[in-house]
Amino acid sequence: MMVQQAVSATGAPDVFASTRERFLIPDGVRYFDGNSLGLMPRVVQLHASNVITHEWGLGLIHSWHEAEWRTLPQRAGAKIARLIGAKPTEVVACDSTSVNLFKVVVSAVRLRPGRKTIVTDADAFPTDLYIVDQVAKLFGLTVVAVPAARIIENLNADVAAVVLTHVDYRSAEIYDMHAFTQASHRAGALIVWDLSHTAGGVPCDLNACEADFAVGCGYKYLNGGPGAPAYLYVAERHANDCEQPLAGWFGHARPFDFAPDYRPAEGTSRFLCGTHPVIGLSVLSRALDLFDGVPLEALRERSLQLTQRFIERVDAQLAPHGFVVASPRAASLRGSHVSLRHPEGYGVMQALAARKFIGDFRMPDYMRFGFAPLYNTQEEVAELVDAIDDIMRRREWDKPAFQQRRDFT
Ligand SMILES: *Cc1c(COP(=O)(O)O)cnc(C)c1O
Repeated sequence: MMVQQAVSATGAPDVFASTRERFLIPDGVRYFDGNSLGLMPRVVQLHASNVITHEWGLGLIHSWHEAEWRTLPQRAGAKIARLIGAKPTEVVACDSTSVNLFKVVVSAVRLRPGRKTIVTDADAFPTDLYIVDQVAKLFGLTVVAVPAARIIENLNADVAAVVLTHVDYRSAEIYDMHAFTQASHRAGALIVWDLSHTAGGVPCDLNACEADFAVGCGYKYLNGGPGAPAYLYVAERHANDCEQPLAGWFGHARPFDFAPDYRPAEGTSRFLCGTHPVIGLSVLSRALDLFDGVPLEALRERSLQLTQRFIERVDAQLAPHGFVVASPRAASLRGSHVSLRHPEGYGVMQALAARKFIGDFRMPDYMRFGFAPLYNTQEEVAELVDAIDDIMRRREWDKPAFQQRRDFT
């Protein structure tokens, strides 16, 4: 029997017709926070239960081999590689983004001995700034933190490494990976990209840009679950020359020799440190399968359709209430979330949450709405704008309950 395939407006098969159904969406919830914590893929419920009951409970220590726990960092990494334009062997999934950033920034500065400066974006995600500062302290380097637009003019023969986020976490602005990478190389520096708001939302091509290092999160658009392992990328041409600072036994060439001397594994595997969190990593790996069969161009097109529709509706319906679009209007510069600014943004987000519309708030007045191409829809975009409009008309944001500040938003 022929199965009728859903077709998009352009006549091409619609790969997204069934991807939304593969996620658990709580009743009544409209979710626009996939850039912070992705929805749960339904399949991981049974998968996690199997890993716990069969692999851990029954298989016990044998599962390191029989369930192939050993190679999970490499296998999950290979799945992420396709989404970021890397070779499967150049990516491993492990540790947190912050820890991975430390490992790769140290490796980068060690590959450029004698150079005394790290250049970074002054508006980067704070953890990136903290880590870069500590690397500089340890190695006696100077950090030049400037707005992204001024990074290139600060490149010179003293710069060891440039650390930059591809998609800005507040504005969703995309920085030109090719231009920044080439400019860094012209100055003789290496570049480290943070892809936390990229992978799964915005395609990129690390290999085509000749990027040196990258890190990113597993729990945002990759839907790996809260605190999911992160990943890191090291260009093949550098990997065997790298000395990463967290040399643990899982990055050893032969961990089960229990040798007193450290001998790093070949390639990116040397960036592993200690025993990985098998359950979390296995869940991430299974969640990544949801990207199977989704062409990256289609992912990008879908993301742009959602963010474009949102911006158009905001201009038409919400600008009169004082909302300002704080994300780039040019499609080529816009990631997969859109930020709005409004003086009452905090209260509006709380009022939205009470109606089960979930986005998030970033200081001082950014309202962020993530549009995950695998599960968000055009209908939801319209409902979101209508809800904000209604909250403004009723001055719902002004209720005392919605003005109460909490630590997490
Ligand atoms: C989310 C995010 C992080 C988070 O790092 P963790 O170590 O996972 O807490 C780091 N950098 C950027 C740019 C992010 O967006």
